[in-house]
Amino acid sequence: MHWRTKLAQPQTLAPAGFKSLAVPTYRGSTVLFEKQADVIDHWKQEDGYSCGLYGTPTALELAGRIRALEGAAHTFLVPGGQAAIALVYLAVCKTGSHALVPHSVYGPNKEMSAGVLKRFGIEVESYDPLMGAAIAKLIRPNTALIWTESPGSVTMEIQDVPAICAAAHARNVPVALDNTYAAGVLFDAFKHGVDISIQALTKYVGGHSDLLLGAVSVREAKFRDLVGDTYKELGMGVSPDDCSLALRGLQTLGVRLRQLESSALTVAKWLAARAEIKAVFHPALPSCPGHDVWKRDFTGSASVFSILFDDRFAAKDVGAFVDALQLFKIGMSWGGVTSLALVYPNLDRPKDYGGRLVRLNVGLEEPEDLIGDLERALRAT
Ligand SMILES: *Cc1c(COP(=O)(O)O)cnc(C)c1O
Repeated sequence: MHWRTKLAQPQTLAPAGFKSLAVPTYRGSTVLFEKQADVIDHWKQEDGYSCGLYGTPTALELAGRIRALEGAAHTFLVPGGQAAIALVYLAVCKTGSHALVPHSVYGPNKEMSAGVLKRFGIEVESYDPLMGAAIAKLIRPNTALIWTESPGSVTMEIQDVPAICAAAHARNVPVALDNTYAAGVLFDAFKHGVDISIQALTKYVGGHSDLLLGAVSVREAKFRDLVGDTYKELGMGVSPDDCSLALRGLQTLGVRLRQLESSALTVAKWLAARAEIKAVFHPALPSCPGHDVWKRDFTGSASVFSILFDDRFAAKDVGAFVDALQLFKIGMSWGGVTSLALVYPNLDRPKDYGGRLVRLNVGLEEPEDLIGDLERALRAT
């Protein structure tokens, strides 16, 4: 054979039987079959491999570990948390559908309502995240989906997810949860009645601010087929390299969450005692809306919370506070090792905080150093 032919038709020379603690990174778009009769084209894992798009062994190993951790019937990996949100909408809703979304939901979820969903004739209505069982009165004959997110993005409302699920299921409406805050582990979505649980693996599972990945986990086969077929049609494949990083992240998720919980609470309690701060919205503090529900339903708290400055501060003072921070960097996409701070000026909530709400992500720095940084910035404000 010509050497060019040899390059294109490689022989596998490495011995089989290698064992290590690391999951190998399998790259592959084409999956090979032994014979024509074996050829399949389906996302279903139990049918074996058919196309790299539906998962290489690296991706399916990660999906399997998330599925086991969350107690799901099936987990799909998607390119990011927002892709997970989009997949749920497109799998469950159709033209003429009505969906309910808490007004505390992740911003780009709302943007999708006003964009693609509106264009496709799907109506999304916003609801009070703290209304619990009263959501029953908002359910219409064409309600196809109720979103929950607990705590809510930035404003941190803890939702009564079991009460919402009970009201939804009485009318045969599925409930989806954005479980990113809980990393899929601090809140047991399926035990509390959720049908479809998503998380941005970008945050705590990745854990190092260097990858984008999402997961959609489903309670039962009915939702697996609904989500799976749409997933295949949309071509939401993921990179095995990102999956490899997420598999590494999973190994240290336990210790990172334990430390982040402790550090964030230390910082939050220090801030709660400051005269400049009117309220601290941290799920484990009574000042957080829905704190009692958090105590009932969650097994821990994570690294993000928000602080509301006293009314005497103007939005520009709060901006100056964020600018004066040195250890806290200014940026989105939390859950990594570095502390972050950010003002959300256009929150799009019924209650406007006038640019006085700052969302903090506490990282793995020593809490004493973070408190020193906050104290310096408060003095300069
Ligand atoms: C970050 C985030 C997402 C989106 O995740 P990406 O991977 O950045 O697309 C979705 N939901 C919540 C609550 C988030 O914080």
